[in-house]
Amino acid sequence: MSNFVWCHGPGCHKSHTQDRIRGVKGSKVLRTKKVVQDQYNSGERFSMYSYFCSQGCYNDFANKHVREVIAIAPRTEALETPIDVVKEQATNWAGNTYMRTEIKTVDNNGG
Ligand SMILES: [Zn+2]
Repeated sequence: MSNFVWCHGPGCHKSHTQDRIRGVKGSKVLRTKKVVQDQYNSGERFSMYSYFCSQGCYNDFANKHVREVIAIAPRTEALETPIDVVKEQATNWAGNTYMRTEIKTVDNNGG
């Protein structure tokens, strides 16, 4: 007995692929694909691939429902990450020196 969900892509059942064809001659349909829940997309590896058969179906869903998705966690202001910009002299593979700029994240939480 397999455990599965139907792909949530809004147009999954409209893609013209052989593996979506169901039914007998005269009453054939294109059916939404099953997404089998296995060790690659369930438990610790739970992801978008637990609900969608493909990146395309995920994109179709995200584009159709983007307003609802953004409403879950709207961003009303920019986020910032404290950094230090460190310039230091370095040597390349040929032995020539140059100035290297490194961006280092600053941990203000003492951790
Ligand atoms: Zn799909």
